[in-house]
Amino acid sequence: MFDLIIRNANLPDGRMGIDIGVRAGAIAEIAPTIAAEAGEEIDASGCLVSPPFVDPHFHMDATLSLGLPRMNVSGTLLEGIALWGELRPTLTTEAVVERALRYCDLAVSQGLLAIRSHVDVSDPELVTVKGLLEVKEKVASYIDLQLVAFPQDGYYRAPGAAEALERALDMGVDVVGGIPHFERTMDDGARSTAALCRIAAERGLPVDFHCDETDDPNSRHIETLAAETIRHGLQGRVAGSHLTSMHSMDNYYVSKLIPLMAEAQISAIPNPLINIMLQGRHDTYPKRRGMTRVPELMAAGITVGFGHDCVMDPWYSMGSGDMLEVAHMALHVTQMGSIENKRALFDAVTVNSAKILGLEGYGLEKGCNADFVILQARDPQEAIRLKANRLFVIKRGKVIADTAPRVARLHLEGRPEIVDGASYAPIAQIDNQ
Ligand SMILES: [Zn+2]
Repeated sequence: MFDLIIRNANLPDGRMGIDIGVRAGAIAEIAPTIAAEAGEEIDASGCLVSPPFVDPHFHMDATLSLGLPRMNVSGTLLEGIALWGELRPTLTTEAVVERALRYCDLAVSQGLLAIRSHVDVSDPELVTVKGLLEVKEKVASYIDLQLVAFPQDGYYRAPGAAEALERALDMGVDVVGGIPHFERTMDDGARSTAALCRIAAERGLPVDFHCDETDDPNSRHIETLAAETIRHGLQGRVAGSHLTSMHSMDNYYVSKLIPLMAEAQISAIPNPLINIMLQGRHDTYPKRRGMTRVPELMAAGITVGFGHDCVMDPWYSMGSGDMLEVAHMALHVTQMGSIENKRALFDAVTVNSAKILGLEGYGLEKGCNADFVILQARDPQEAIRLKANRLFVIKRGKVIADTAPRVARLHLEGRPEIVDGASYAPIAQIDNQ
Protein backbone atom coordinates (compact mmCIF):
# COMPACT_ATOMS: atom_id res chain seq x y z
CA MET A 1 0.00 0.00 0.00
CA PHE A 2 1.34 3.40 -1.05
CA ASP A 3 0.25 6.89 -0.07
CA LEU A 4 0.45 8.04 -3.69
CA ILE A 5 1.15 6.46 -7.07
CA ILE A 6 1.89 8.55 -10.15
CA ARG A 7 1.16 6.39 -13.19
CA ASN A 8 2.44 6.46 -16.77
CA ALA A 9 5.14 9.09 -16.29
CA ASN A 10 7.89 10.04 -18.72
CA LEU A 11 11.14 10.83 -16.92
CA PRO A 12 13.80 13.39 -17.89
CA ASP A 13 16.33 10.62 -18.63
CA GLY A 14 14.09 9.24 -21.40
CA ARG A 15 12.38 6.40 -19.51
CA MET A 16 8.70 6.24 -20.52
CA GLY A 17 5.52 4.81 -19.02
CA ILE A 18 6.91 4.65 -15.47
CA ASP A 19 4.95 4.35 -12.22
CA ILE A 20 6.24 6.11 -9.10
CA GLY A 21 5.10 4.84 -5.69
CA VAL A 22 5.35 7.13 -2.67
CA ARG A 23 5.33 6.16 0.97
CA ALA A 24 5.99 8.45 3.97
CA GLY A 25 7.13 11.34 1.77
CA ALA A 26 9.76 9.35 -0.13
CA ILE A 27 9.95 7.39 -3.38
CA ALA A 28 9.35 3.78 -2.31
CA GLU A 29 9.29 2.27 -5.79
CA ILE A 30 9.87 3.45 -9.35
CA ALA A 31 9.15 0.86 -12.04
CA PRO A 32 7.30 0.30 -15.35
CA THR A 33 4.25 -1.06 -13.50
CA ILE A 34 3.45 -1.00 -9.81
CA ALA A 35 0.71 -3.54 -9.11
CA ALA A 36 -0.51 -2.06 -5.86
CA GLU A 37 -3.08 0.29 -4.47
CA ALA A 38 -2.56 3.77 -3.16
CA GLY A 39 -4.45 6.33 -1.09
CA GLU A 40 -4.24 8.62 -4.10
CA GLU A 41 -3.41 8.07 -7.76
CA ILE A 42 -2.44 10.61 -10.39
CA ASP A 43 -2.45 9.60 -14.04
CA ALA A 44 0.42 11.45 -15.71
CA SER A 45 -0.78 10.17 -19.12
CA GLY A 46 2.68 10.23 -20.68
CA CYS A 47 3.57 13.66 -19.35
CA LEU A 48 7.03 14.51 -18.07
CA VAL A 49 7.54 14.03 -14.33
CA SER A 50 10.62 15.86 -13.11
CA PRO A 51 12.15 16.58 -9.76
CA PRO A 52 11.36 20.21 -8.83
CA PHE A 53 13.07 23.17 -10.46
CA VAL A 54 15.99 24.67 -8.55
CA ASP A 55 17.10 28.31 -8.86
CA PRO A 56 20.76 28.63 -7.79
CA HIS A 57 20.92 32.43 -8.07
CA PHE A 58 18.23 34.85 -6.95
CA HIS A 59 17.72 38.12 -5.03
CA MET A 60 14.70 37.59 -2.83
CA ASP A 61 15.34 40.77 -0.83
CA ALA A 62 14.71 42.91 -3.92
CA THR A 63 12.08 40.89 -5.77
CA LEU A 64 8.72 42.48 -6.65
CA SER A 65 10.02 45.96 -5.75
CA LEU A 66 9.80 47.20 -9.34
CA GLY A 67 9.02 50.93 -9.46
CA LEU A 68 10.23 51.63 -5.90
CA PRO A 69 11.24 54.39 -5.56
CA ARG A 70 11.40 54.84 -9.38
CA MET A 71 12.13 52.86 -12.54
CA ASN A 72 15.61 52.05 -13.91
CA VAL A 73 15.72 54.42 -16.90
CA SER A 74 19.03 53.37 -18.48
CA GLY A 75 18.40 49.68 -17.80
CA THR A 76 22.03 49.17 -16.77
CA LEU A 77 23.53 47.16 -13.92
CA LEU A 78 25.05 50.31 -12.43
CA GLU A 79 21.76 52.26 -12.37
CA GLY A 80 20.17 49.15 -10.85
CA ILE A 81 22.74 49.15 -8.05
CA ALA A 82 22.25 52.92 -7.53
CA LEU A 83 18.46 52.47 -7.45
CA TRP A 84 18.72 49.65 -4.93
CA GLY A 85 20.91 52.01 -2.85
CA GLU A 86 18.01 54.50 -2.83
CA LEU A 87 15.43 51.89 -1.92
CA ARG A 88 17.46 50.08 0.76
CA PRO A 89 17.25 52.73 3.54
CA THR A 90 13.46 52.78 3.23
CA LEU A 91 13.00 49.00 3.57
CA THR A 92 11.30 47.44 6.55
CA THR A 93 11.61 43.82 7.58
CA GLU A 94 7.84 43.42 7.21
CA ALA A 95 7.87 44.68 3.60
CA VAL A 96 10.81 42.44 2.68
CA VAL A 97 9.09 39.41 4.24
CA GLU A 98 5.76 40.15 2.55
CA ARG A 99 7.26 40.51 -0.92
CA ALA A 100 9.46 37.44 -0.51
CA LEU A 101 6.52 35.30 0.66
CA ARG A 102 4.52 36.45 -2.35
CA TYR A 103 7.41 35.46 -4.61
CA CYS A 104 7.55 32.04 -2.90
CA ASP A 105 3.85 31.53 -3.72
CA LEU A 106 4.65 32.22 -7.36
CA ALA A 107 7.68 29.90 -7.19
CA VAL A 108 5.59 27.02 -5.83
CA SER A 109 3.02 27.48 -8.59
CA GLN A 110 5.93 27.12 -11.07
CA GLY A 111 7.30 23.97 -9.41
CA LEU A 112 10.34 25.89 -8.15
CA LEU A 113 11.01 24.36 -4.73
CA ALA A 114 14.64 25.22 -3.99
CA ILE A 115 16.20 28.68 -4.25
CA ARG A 116 19.62 30.08 -3.38
CA SER A 117 19.08 33.79 -2.71
CA HIS A 118 21.76 36.38 -2.22
CA VAL A 119 20.93 38.78 0.58
CA ASP A 120 22.50 42.22 0.69
CA VAL A 121 24.55 42.80 3.83
CA SER A 122 25.51 46.41 3.03
CA ASP A 123 22.99 47.95 5.43
CA PRO A 124 24.39 47.90 9.01
CA GLU A 125 20.91 47.17 10.42
CA LEU A 126 20.77 44.00 8.26
CA VAL A 127 17.04 44.52 7.65
CA THR A 128 17.16 42.30 4.56
CA VAL A 129 19.02 39.52 6.41
CA LYS A 130 16.50 39.52 9.26
CA GLY A 131 13.66 39.47 6.74
CA LEU A 132 14.97 36.59 4.65
CA LEU A 133 15.96 34.49 7.68
CA GLU A 134 12.34 34.83 8.79
CA VAL A 135 11.14 33.83 5.30
CA LYS A 136 13.49 30.84 5.24
CA GLU A 137 11.85 29.53 8.39
CA LYS A 138 8.31 30.32 7.22
CA VAL A 139 8.67 28.48 3.87
CA ALA A 140 10.83 25.60 5.12
CA SER A 141 8.08 23.01 4.69
CA TYR A 142 7.73 23.74 0.97
CA ILE A 143 10.82 25.62 -0.28
CA ASP A 144 14.48 24.96 0.48
CA LEU A 145 15.78 28.52 0.77
CA GLN A 146 19.53 28.96 1.01
CA LEU A 147 20.98 32.41 1.74
CA VAL A 148 24.24 34.00 0.57
CA ALA A 149 25.79 36.92 2.47
CA PHE A 150 26.24 39.35 -0.41
CA PRO A 151 28.22 42.60 0.01
CA GLN A 152 26.42 44.39 -2.85
CA ASP A 153 28.39 47.64 -2.50
CA GLY A 154 31.76 45.87 -2.24
CA TYR A 155 33.48 44.03 0.60
CA TYR A 156 36.26 46.66 0.83
CA ARG A 157 34.50 49.48 -1.02
CA ALA A 158 31.57 49.89 1.37
CA PRO A 159 32.43 51.01 4.90
CA GLY A 160 31.39 48.39 7.46
CA ALA A 161 30.62 45.69 4.89
CA ALA A 162 33.27 43.28 6.18
CA GLU A 163 31.91 43.42 9.71
CA ALA A 164 28.27 43.21 8.54
CA LEU A 165 29.03 40.15 6.42
CA GLU A 166 30.51 38.32 9.41
CA ARG A 167 27.47 39.28 11.51
CA ALA A 168 25.13 37.95 8.82
CA LEU A 169 27.02 34.63 8.86
CA ASP A 170 26.78 34.58 12.68
CA MET A 171 23.00 35.02 12.32
CA GLY A 172 22.75 31.86 10.20
CA VAL A 173 23.28 32.90 6.58
CA ASP A 174 24.51 29.79 4.77
CA VAL A 175 26.98 30.88 2.07
CA VAL A 176 29.80 33.45 1.71
CA GLY A 177 29.21 35.92 -1.15
CA GLY A 178 31.35 38.54 -2.85
CA ILE A 179 31.51 40.93 -5.78
CA PRO A 180 35.20 41.33 -6.69
CA HIS A 181 34.58 43.20 -9.98
CA PHE A 182 32.78 45.95 -8.06
CA GLU A 183 35.67 46.70 -5.69
CA ARG A 184 37.63 49.89 -6.46
CA THR A 185 40.56 48.18 -8.15
CA MET A 186 41.40 44.81 -9.67
CA ASP A 187 43.81 44.41 -6.77
CA ASP A 188 41.07 45.04 -4.19
CA GLY A 189 38.91 42.52 -6.06
CA ALA A 190 41.63 39.89 -5.77
CA ARG A 191 42.20 40.72 -2.08
CA SER A 192 38.46 40.46 -1.35
CA THR A 193 38.40 37.05 -3.07
CA ALA A 194 41.25 35.81 -0.89
CA ALA A 195 39.72 37.22 2.31
CA LEU A 196 36.26 35.80 1.64
CA CYS A 197 37.58 32.33 0.73
CA ARG A 198 39.54 32.36 4.00
CA ILE A 199 36.35 33.17 5.94
CA ALA A 200 34.53 30.32 4.16
CA ALA A 201 37.35 27.88 4.94
CA GLU A 202 37.44 28.90 8.61
CA ARG A 203 33.67 28.61 8.99
CA GLY A 204 33.28 25.51 6.81
CA LEU A 205 30.85 27.27 4.46
CA PRO A 206 30.33 27.25 0.68
CA VAL A 207 31.21 30.26 -1.48
CA ASP A 208 29.16 31.90 -4.25
CA PHE A 209 30.43 35.13 -5.79
CA HIS A 210 28.95 37.53 -8.27
CA CYS A 211 32.08 37.14 -10.36
CA ASP A 212 33.18 39.16 -13.37
CA GLU A 213 29.69 40.40 -14.26
CA THR A 214 31.15 42.79 -16.81
CA ASP A 215 32.08 42.89 -20.50
CA ASP A 216 35.67 43.77 -19.59
CA PRO A 217 37.83 40.86 -20.79
CA ASN A 218 40.46 41.87 -18.24
CA SER A 219 38.10 41.09 -15.36
CA ARG A 220 39.73 37.82 -14.34
CA HIS A 221 38.63 37.34 -10.74
CA ILE A 222 37.42 33.84 -11.58
CA GLU A 223 41.09 32.89 -11.94
CA THR A 224 41.82 34.15 -8.41
CA LEU A 225 38.67 32.45 -7.12
CA ALA A 226 39.83 29.12 -8.58
CA ALA A 227 43.33 29.54 -7.13
CA GLU A 228 42.00 30.49 -3.66
CA THR A 229 39.57 27.56 -3.79
CA ILE A 230 42.48 25.17 -4.28
CA ARG A 231 44.64 26.98 -1.69
CA HIS A 232 41.96 26.56 1.00
CA GLY A 233 40.82 23.06 -0.02
CA LEU A 234 37.33 24.33 -0.93
CA GLN A 235 37.00 22.18 -4.06
CA GLY A 236 33.37 21.36 -4.88
CA ARG A 237 32.01 24.07 -2.53
CA VAL A 238 32.58 27.17 -4.65
CA ALA A 239 30.44 28.73 -7.38
CA GLY A 240 31.09 31.62 -9.73
CA SER A 241 27.88 33.42 -10.72
CA HIS A 242 27.52 35.31 -14.02
CA LEU A 243 31.15 35.03 -15.32
CA THR A 244 30.11 37.22 -18.25
CA SER A 245 33.61 38.62 -18.88
CA MET A 246 34.53 35.12 -20.12
CA HIS A 247 32.39 35.93 -23.19
CA SER A 248 34.84 38.67 -24.18
CA MET A 249 38.11 37.06 -23.08
CA ASP A 250 40.91 36.03 -25.38
CA ASN A 251 40.53 32.37 -26.45
CA TYR A 252 44.13 31.50 -25.55
CA TYR A 253 43.65 32.75 -21.99
CA VAL A 254 40.35 30.83 -21.66
CA SER A 255 42.12 27.64 -22.78
CA LYS A 256 44.10 27.90 -19.53
CA LEU A 257 41.24 29.22 -17.37
CA ILE A 258 38.60 26.54 -17.94
CA PRO A 259 40.91 23.64 -16.94
CA LEU A 260 41.85 25.65 -13.83
CA MET A 261 38.15 26.02 -12.95
CA ALA A 262 37.66 22.29 -13.53
CA GLU A 263 40.64 21.49 -11.28
CA ALA A 264 39.11 23.67 -8.54
CA GLN A 265 35.70 21.98 -9.12
CA ILE A 266 34.09 25.40 -9.33
CA SER A 267 30.45 25.48 -10.44
CA ALA A 268 29.24 28.08 -12.92
CA ILE A 269 25.93 29.91 -12.55
CA PRO A 270 25.06 31.94 -15.66
CA ASN A 271 21.92 34.08 -15.52
CA PRO A 272 20.68 34.22 -19.11
CA LEU A 273 17.62 36.46 -18.73
CA ILE A 274 19.31 39.26 -16.86
CA ASN A 275 22.62 39.14 -18.68
CA ILE A 276 21.15 39.27 -22.18
CA MET A 277 19.51 42.49 -20.95
CA LEU A 278 22.48 44.02 -19.12
CA GLN A 279 25.57 43.06 -21.11
CA GLY A 280 26.85 44.74 -24.25
CA ARG A 281 25.46 48.10 -23.15
CA HIS A 282 28.65 49.94 -24.09
CA ASP A 283 28.78 48.32 -27.53
CA THR A 284 27.43 49.91 -30.68
CA TYR A 285 27.21 47.10 -33.27
CA PRO A 286 27.98 44.27 -33.23
CA LYS A 287 26.65 43.94 -29.67
CA ARG A 288 28.11 41.20 -27.50
CA ARG A 289 25.74 38.76 -25.84
CA GLY A 290 27.68 38.69 -22.62
CA MET A 291 26.85 35.06 -21.83
CA THR A 292 29.63 32.98 -20.34
CA ARG A 293 30.92 30.00 -22.37
CA VAL A 294 28.31 27.45 -21.39
CA PRO A 295 28.95 24.56 -23.85
CA GLU A 296 32.70 24.79 -23.26
CA LEU A 297 32.27 24.79 -19.47
CA MET A 298 29.93 21.79 -19.68
CA ALA A 299 32.35 19.95 -21.98
CA ALA A 300 35.10 20.44 -19.38
CA GLY A 301 32.93 18.67 -16.78
CA ILE A 302 32.07 21.85 -14.87
CA THR A 303 28.66 21.83 -13.20
CA VAL A 304 26.53 24.55 -14.80
CA GLY A 305 23.25 25.68 -13.22
CA PHE A 306 21.19 28.57 -14.55
CA GLY A 307 19.82 31.26 -12.24
CA HIS A 308 16.76 33.48 -12.60
CA ASP A 309 18.59 36.24 -10.69
CA CYS A 310 15.83 38.85 -10.66
CA VAL A 311 12.07 39.15 -11.00
CA MET A 312 10.57 42.65 -11.23
CA ASP A 313 13.23 44.55 -9.30
CA PRO A 314 15.66 47.46 -9.94
CA TRP A 315 17.70 45.34 -12.38
CA TYR A 316 15.09 43.44 -14.35
CA SER A 317 11.48 44.39 -14.96
CA MET A 318 10.46 40.99 -16.34
CA GLY A 319 10.36 37.41 -15.01
CA SER A 320 7.76 35.04 -13.61
CA GLY A 321 9.58 32.49 -11.45
CA ASP A 322 9.67 30.15 -14.45
CA MET A 323 12.96 28.25 -14.69
CA LEU A 324 11.88 26.93 -18.11
CA GLU A 325 11.84 30.52 -19.34
CA VAL A 326 15.42 30.77 -18.04
CA ALA A 327 16.42 27.59 -19.92
CA HIS A 328 14.55 28.84 -23.01
CA MET A 329 16.61 32.04 -23.08
CA ALA A 330 19.81 30.08 -22.38
CA LEU A 331 19.10 27.85 -25.37
CA HIS A 332 18.82 30.82 -27.71
CA VAL A 333 21.76 32.81 -26.38
CA THR A 334 24.10 29.79 -26.32
CA GLN A 335 22.70 28.37 -29.60
CA MET A 336 22.42 24.98 -27.84
CA GLY A 337 19.64 23.54 -29.98
CA SER A 338 20.30 19.81 -30.35
CA ILE A 339 18.33 17.18 -28.44
CA GLU A 340 21.39 16.44 -26.26
CA ASN A 341 21.83 20.18 -25.65
CA LYS A 342 18.22 20.56 -24.57
CA ARG A 343 18.55 17.69 -22.09
CA ALA A 344 21.68 19.38 -20.72
CA LEU A 345 19.81 22.70 -20.40
CA PHE A 346 16.95 20.98 -18.58
CA ASP A 347 19.52 19.48 -16.19
CA ALA A 348 20.90 22.99 -15.64
CA VAL A 349 17.61 24.11 -14.05
CA THR A 350 17.10 20.87 -12.11
CA VAL A 351 19.79 18.33 -11.12
CA ASN A 352 22.88 20.50 -11.72
CA SER A 353 21.49 23.30 -9.60
CA ALA A 354 20.45 20.81 -6.91
CA LYS A 355 24.07 19.64 -6.84
CA ILE A 356 25.31 23.24 -6.51
CA LEU A 357 22.97 23.79 -3.54
CA GLY A 358 24.00 20.43 -2.05
CA LEU A 359 20.36 19.33 -1.74
CA GLU A 360 19.92 15.96 -0.06
CA GLY A 361 17.44 13.38 -1.31
CA TYR A 362 16.92 15.18 -4.63
CA GLY A 363 16.13 13.06 -7.68
CA LEU A 364 13.97 10.30 -9.09
CA GLU A 365 15.52 7.24 -7.47
CA LYS A 366 14.14 4.94 -4.81
CA GLY A 367 14.68 6.58 -1.42
CA CYS A 368 14.71 10.16 -2.77
CA ASN A 369 12.23 12.74 -1.50
CA ALA A 370 8.82 12.49 -3.15
CA ASP A 371 9.09 15.97 -4.66
CA PHE A 372 7.89 16.27 -8.27
CA VAL A 373 6.59 18.53 -10.96
CA ILE A 374 4.23 17.05 -13.56
CA LEU A 375 4.53 19.10 -16.73
CA GLN A 376 2.14 19.44 -19.65
CA ALA A 377 4.87 18.22 -22.03
CA ARG A 378 6.17 14.79 -22.95
CA ASP A 379 9.94 15.34 -22.52
CA PRO A 380 12.55 17.92 -21.45
CA GLN A 381 12.98 19.45 -24.89
CA GLU A 382 9.24 19.96 -25.25
CA ALA A 383 9.10 21.35 -21.70
CA ILE A 384 11.64 24.04 -22.64
CA ARG A 385 10.04 24.80 -26.00
CA LEU A 386 6.59 25.25 -24.45
CA LYS A 387 7.71 26.69 -21.11
CA ALA A 388 5.29 23.99 -20.14
CA ASN A 389 2.34 24.34 -17.84
CA ARG A 390 2.81 22.82 -14.38
CA LEU A 391 -0.11 20.42 -13.94
CA PHE A 392 0.88 19.27 -10.44
CA VAL A 393 3.55 20.32 -7.96
CA ILE A 394 4.15 17.70 -5.28
CA LYS A 395 6.18 18.04 -2.08
CA ARG A 396 6.88 14.97 0.09
CA GLY A 397 4.04 13.15 -1.64
CA LYS A 398 1.43 15.89 -1.19
CA VAL A 399 0.02 18.04 -4.00
CA ILE A 400 0.85 21.65 -3.05
CA ALA A 401 -0.18 23.29 -6.34
CA ASP A 402 -2.12 22.32 -9.43
CA THR A 403 -3.05 24.08 -12.64
CA ALA A 404 -5.74 23.17 -15.16
CA PRO A 405 -4.35 21.91 -18.49
CA ARG A 406 -3.60 24.75 -20.89
CA VAL A 407 -5.87 24.20 -23.92
CA ALA A 408 -7.65 26.53 -26.27
CA ARG A 409 -11.12 26.07 -27.75
CA LEU A 410 -11.37 26.73 -31.47
CA HIS A 411 -14.53 28.07 -33.03
CA LEU A 412 -13.78 27.22 -36.66
CA GLU A 413 -15.84 25.19 -39.09
CA GLY A 414 -14.24 21.83 -39.93
CA ARG A 415 -11.24 22.30 -37.60
CA PRO A 416 -10.57 20.65 -34.21
CA GLU A 417 -12.52 21.96 -31.23
CA ILE A 418 -9.56 21.81 -28.85
CA VAL A 419 -5.95 22.87 -29.36
CA ASP A 420 -3.41 21.50 -26.88
CA GLY A 421 -0.04 23.07 -27.72
CA ALA A 422 1.72 20.16 -26.04
CA SER A 423 0.43 17.70 -28.65
CA TYR A 424 2.07 19.37 -31.64
CA ALA A 425 5.58 17.87 -31.58
CA PRO A 426 6.02 16.18 -34.97
CA ILE A 427 6.17 12.37 -34.80
CA ALA A 428 9.55 12.43 -36.60
CA GLN A 429 11.07 14.41 -33.73
CA ILE A 430 9.78 11.92 -31.19
CA ASP A 431 11.02 8.92 -33.21
CA ASN A 432 14.48 10.43 -33.57
CA GLN A 433 15.10 10.62 -29.83
ZN1 LIG B 1 22.77 38.37 -8.74
